[in-house]
Amino acid sequence: MPLSEFSLIQRFFTRQKVKNQTTSLGIGDDCALLSIPNGYELAVTTDTMVENVHFFAGTDPEQLGHKLLAVNLSDLASMGAKPVSVMLALTLPSVDENWLAAFAKGFLSLAENYSVDLMGGDTTSGPLTLTVQAMGLVPQGKALMRSSAKAGDYIYLTGSLGDAGLGLKISQGYYCTNPLAAQKRFNQPDPRVEAGLALTGIANACIDVSDGLAGDLGHILEQSNVGACLYWDALPLSDTVLAYINETGDWSMPLNAGDDYELCFTVSPEKAAQLTVNCKKIGVIETKPGLRLIKAGTIQPLKSKGYEHFS
Ligand code: ADP
Ligand code: MG
Repeated sequence: MPLSEFSLIQRFFTRQKVKNQTTSLGIGDDCALLSIPNGYELAVTTDTMVENVHFFAGTDPEQLGHKLLAVNLSDLASMGAKPVSVMLALTLPSVDENWLAAFAKGFLSLAENYSVDLMGGDTTSGPLTLTVQAMGLVPQGKALMRSSAKAGDYIYLTGSLGDAGLGLKISQGYYCTNPLAAQKRFNQPDPRVEAGLALTGIANACIDVSDGLAGDLGHILEQSNVGACLYWDALPLSDTVLAYINETGDWSMPLNAGDDYELCFTVSPEKAAQLTVNCKKIGVIETKPGLRLIKAGTIQPLKSKGYEHFS
């Protein structure tokens, strides 16, 4: 007999101990209760992953559990918030205990790493759809927003660019001699939580790169009413991404591919020396609108378009 909804939740999602004082009531009642300490704001975000839209049918469930939580923690990181708790809404076509055990393992291990409480959710039957709502704390007034970049700010990026995009190309059939690192970046991204926390009080604007650097930086530019210039030679590209570009000529892939989950942020020149985060300066914010790239001595305009679900 398949597990009932209630025993499914019991079995796979209630094993964690409560870790945060903010969790006054966790799984089990009609609502969870969250207390927000004085002097803090609650940062709230939600992200859904739909089979065949955000991930391939048959994706390893442990990696899926990890990625579902990671993309939500990445949104908290980009606001400079410390993650404290999450809600998990699962729509499942059937109760597959092996799938659920692996999914819960991927999800709860990452939650454990960041001391995040799973405090509730919903479980329904239907086409495979996974939704998380994540909540984090940020000191009052200190959240990093998209709208506060200033002309003259330097633009920085954590980590490296295009590896997740390459991982996707590899799963679509592109041949690569050492595919593992790129595939891991695509399937199990690391949210830049510590970097986000270290940027509050230093960065002016911040975004996580989920849809491609050009599109995501484009959101900062639009909301801040500024433009920007990026330096091709400064982009942090791994050897495998450089090899891909050399072989295919597709140099814009790292600028347009999504799923890197690095933080792109701007810092005024006066505060640049205070940066402790592992990152690279990749460009500068300008008053002239639009996004430009300096490559091989010429300046070229860059389209800043991310993935659109309804177009
Ligand atoms: P209700 O009928 O009031 O919506 P449910 O039966 O859906 O309650 O859920 C019972 C409890 O289990 C609630 O506390 C809910 O938050 C929690 N819950 C349901 N699904 C999940 C899930 N996938 N992960 C974590 N908690 C869940
Ligand atoms: Mg319910």
